[in-house]
Amino acid sequence: MKRKWLWSTVFASLLIVLGFMLPQQRVQAAEKTYTIGTDVTFAPFEFADKNNKYVGIDIDLMNAIAKTEGFKVDIKPLGFNAAVQALEAGQIDGVIAGMSITKERQEKFSMSDPYYKSGVVMAVAKGAKIQSLKDLRGKKVAVKTGTASADYANSVKAKYGFSTVTFDDSNNVYDNVKTGNAQACFEDKPVMQYAIATSYKNDLELAKNFKMAMANNYGIAVKQSEAATLTKKINAGIKKLKANGQYDKIVRKYLGNGSEASQAKKTAAMQETDRSFMGLLKSNWGTLMSGLGETLWLTIVGIVCATIVGILIGLLGVVPNKFLQGVSTTFIYIFRGLPMMVLALFIYSGVPSLIDQKVPAFIAGVITLTLNEGAYTAAFVKGGISAVDGGQMEAARSLGLPWGKSMRRVILPQGVKIMIPSFVNQFIITLKDTSILSVLGLLELTQTGKIIIARNMEGFKIWAMVALIYLVIITLLTWLSNWVQKKVNA
Ligand code: GLN
Repeated sequence: MKRKWLWSTVFASLLIVLGFMLPQQRVQAAEKTYTIGTDVTFAPFEFADKNNKYVGIDIDLMNAIAKTEGFKVDIKPLGFNAAVQALEAGQIDGVIAGMSITKERQEKFSMSDPYYKSGVVMAVAKGAKIQSLKDLRGKKVAVKTGTASADYANSVKAKYGFSTVTFDDSNNVYDNVKTGNAQACFEDKPVMQYAIATSYKNDLELAKNFKMAMANNYGIAVKQSEAATLTKKINAGIKKLKANGQYDKIVRKYLGNGSEASQAKKTAAMQETDRSFMGLLKSNWGTLMSGLGETLWLTIVGIVCATIVGILIGLLGVVPNKFLQGVSTTFIYIFRGLPMMVLALFIYSGVPSLIDQKVPAFIAGVITLTLNEGAYTAAFVKGGISAVDGGQMEAARSLGLPWGKSMRRVILPQGVKIMIPSFVNQFIITLKDTSILSVLGLLELTQTGKIIIARNMEGFKIWAMVALIYLVIITLLTWLSNWVQKKVNA
């Protein structure tokens, strides 16, 4: 009888749990979220507006497709090359970034139907003598990493005798020509025209004797494994939006009637009006603070994990066991030796293709910090213990204390005092090193600054703000550590 009750209760609870789960699952199934990577700045296709919200033809188009086809999108501004690599590694499901449909890309990804016509043009400093490919002999040409324009430049550079300089973001490409470090750049026609009509009006112009090269179409790239699902939905969406006029409406929203004046008017409305230091600080305060929040969060999690791993690996280095000492030395050798950016990219874009599993950017960032900062921590933990006079261990052992106890009671308390300044130092370094993780597209303080500048071109003022914020936080951290140090030594 009791048993029957028991089973009925179990069955009933199962039903209730299932009842809760089913509708949710149905909602989830109906509204699958796809992660779509995009460029940091590629106006008018994707760029941040004055509230640092991502807007542009691509962004609106992607959202409209998702809406008509019943799925959700999480759009991540990773930068063009980083987004394509993240897609290759299977870290994201698709890329929308004014991405030209090329044969190689069609082989690697599932490319959607075309949605916008483009091609490569050449731009030079306003009023420059250089106006054609022939004028480029011995000159420098700026291009963007991994783009069709870069491919084009590389395919003709031997013939015309110029060299290339590569940047990750379009605004850095243009700035390089503006400042005269490069004499020309290659870029997609609609994007270059837009930049010249808006932010670079007084600085750049299209080369007069250069005809558009490599005519191509933009498409949305999707992971091969989602070809039957996501690409299909995207194609259906593009078709519908073109048919019902919504597509034209989106394009008009950013380009007006297509004339330079109307493009300029459209962008002006998206920019801050007060360009003073304080004005810019005020309008970007919220975004900078959310970047700082991410930086602090990464730092705290990173420090905790790195300290634990560092102490463990450091201790392994001093136990009287050759194998364990070897493990410790190898760990320190590898992870102290690798440049942090290489390690971050390896974990974020390399490892996922090996294990066939996504590694979220934040996790990849924390693992990077743990291994790199952990190796440094291990080195000074090991050093701190070794720095305690050897006679101390001998004395403890001759008093009859076993090795472990001698370590804990005699050596470590002295070693820890030696290590404390190194710990403080390492915490500060960890905070600063989080900026390297901006390569993973994490919206920490540095990446936030980069995105704001890509929009408003106020490099000097915004980098000054970012630098000041880091300094304030580092000062606070130093005060805190000094206080802790005093307490420990008291
Ligand atoms: N259309 C170019 C390409 O696909 C550039 C794209 C971009 O820079 N976002 O390579």
